[in-house]
Amino acid sequence: MKLTVLGCGDAFGNGGRNHSAFLLTNNNEHVLVDCGASTLIRLKHESIHLEDVSTIIISHFHGDHYGGIPFFLISSLFETPRKVPLTIVGPKGLKEKIFILQEAMYSGTGEKLDQHDITYLEYGENPMDFDGKRIVAKPVEHSPPSIPHGIRLEWENKVFAYSGDTSWTDSLIELCDKSDLFVCECNFLHEQAYGHLCYDELVERRSQLNCENIWLSHMGSEVLNLDDSVFNKLSDGMKIDF
Ligand SMILES: [Zn+2]
Repeated sequence: MKLTVLGCGDAFGNGGRNHSAFLLTNNNEHVLVDCGASTLIRLKHESIHLEDVSTIIISHFHGDHYGGIPFFLISSLFETPRKVPLTIVGPKGLKEKIFILQEAMYSGTGEKLDQHDITYLEYGENPMDFDGKRIVAKPVEHSPPSIPHGIRLEWENKVFAYSGDTSWTDSLIELCDKSDLFVCECNFLHEQAYGHLCYDELVERRSQLNCENIWLSHMGSEVLNLDDSVFNKLSDGMKIDF
């Protein structure tokens, strides 16, 4: 399994980083976890064919996490018409949210989405099993209207865990349990505020997280400038085999 970091920036693009998008690759199949506004550009930078992206998983409805979907879809509609199915997984109301966003950004293209073979799967209380993958999504602590979730993807005997955007929640313990790679947001350094994690708290709670590899994402400027982090920090373009 390979992770390619397409974007690991915060909402404000601190450090010149792109919005959240994590590409997982196994046997030429790609699964995209989050699809922030800059994602299509980053996919092209990595020479990824959009038809090889089978699945897009969305953590929550904020632009730095799902604002790239209309760009992905107009390319799939008009540039290289997509001939293979696409599965989009996300919080409740997913199809309507994508339609509204599509119409807001490219008026008149929303109704064309039905020409595509798109399956929309909404998170529920139970794990979701499809196409050899299992997704466990847990509600986390972030702006409630964005319907925020943390995600655990089990695929080909590997476990990728992702916090989404959240302040501390015990859901993270379950999501990352025995994971092979845990991407965890770390927006703040010392400030404990609702909706995002801070470095100090992650250090304090590290022993509660039963996983070997924690990689920080969604870092604000203070965390980006921290030289002696006890955690690994992601950067755009990074590739990690796990
Ligand atoms: Zn965010």
